[in-house]
Amino acid sequence: MEEKQFGINDVVEMKKQHPCGANRWKIIRMGMDIRIKCEGCGHSVLIPRKEFGRKMKKILVKHEE
Ligand SMILES: [Zn+2]
Repeated sequence: MEEKQFGINDVVEMKKQHPCGANRWKIIRMGMDIRIKCEGCGHSVLIPRKEFGRKMKKILVKHEE
């Protein structure tokens, strides 16, 4: 399976939606851990990179450099 390519400022959909009902997350920090921010309520969470790769469903908006 090909690895999903994601980067800072991309908007992604996760396999599980946030309890607020939204399922659009913006990547706001990249590193060993990935910080994503819910576009619905503004809540942000920190997820280990490996786990993020498993939990992310698809990239909705690819940020242009
Ligand atoms: Zn939310």
